[in-house]
Amino acid sequence: MKRCILAALAMLLLLSGCAMGEPPSGISVRAASEYTDFGSFSAGAPEPGDAEAAEALVQEVLALYPAGFSDQWGEVQILLVAELTGEEAFAHGSYAGFTLRQGEGWLMVLDVRACDAGTVHHEIAHILDGILTDAGALSETEWMAFCPGGFAYGEGDFERYPDFFADAYAMENIREDRARTFEEALRQGPGAYADRPALWLKLEYFSRAIRDHFDTEGWPEKTIWELALG
Ligand SMILES: [Zn+2]
Repeated sequence: MKRCILAALAMLLLLSGCAMGEPPSGISVRAASEYTDFGSFSAGAPEPGDAEAAEALVQEVLALYPAGFSDQWGEVQILLVAELTGEEAFAHGSYAGFTLRQGEGWLMVLDVRACDAGTVHHEIAHILDGILTDAGALSETEWMAFCPGGFAYGEGDFERYPDFFADAYAMENIREDRARTFEEALRQGPGAYADRPALWLKLEYFSRAIRDHFDTEGWPEKTIWELALG
């Protein structure tokens, strides 16, 4: 009897190990082991249980992207931290995570307690945006056509433009606008922007730029973010 229970436990552990899997190639996930000062942000080391849960969340989100897509992003280091805090200049943003360039690749920092699947999608959008912007694949003029006439980032009142932006944070700058548009679409799923055409157009534009720039061989007819357009 005891052996049966042990065998069942071993099987469960094996199954949970399989479910977790490894991150896609080019992506590494690790927990911070000490307090880190990132310049504009600082954070501490997370509790092991929180770090494990966050790592599982990251794996789940990455599994939603087409196989091999992340190979085209450069090296991505994901660092799991606790109590991520930022300077006053970032006061409008949430401190769930941020992404910085690191050499030829990226450093994505996630607060284990504050981040959720939407945060991970948001940070991935920043990576995609950075690659597309460098490649000249995104036109600011075309993008501004999806914003209200005369609008300038860093100004304006969200109450006036609820149909044009995912939230007030999206009005801070063009990169946050793209990341929040992408994140919100993935949070809501199909039909996300059915009654907000400006946001639908933003997502469609960003999705098209991704299709045009990256190698999409083997991709599904509609990716997870393109399904949100439906
Ligand atoms: Zn952001």
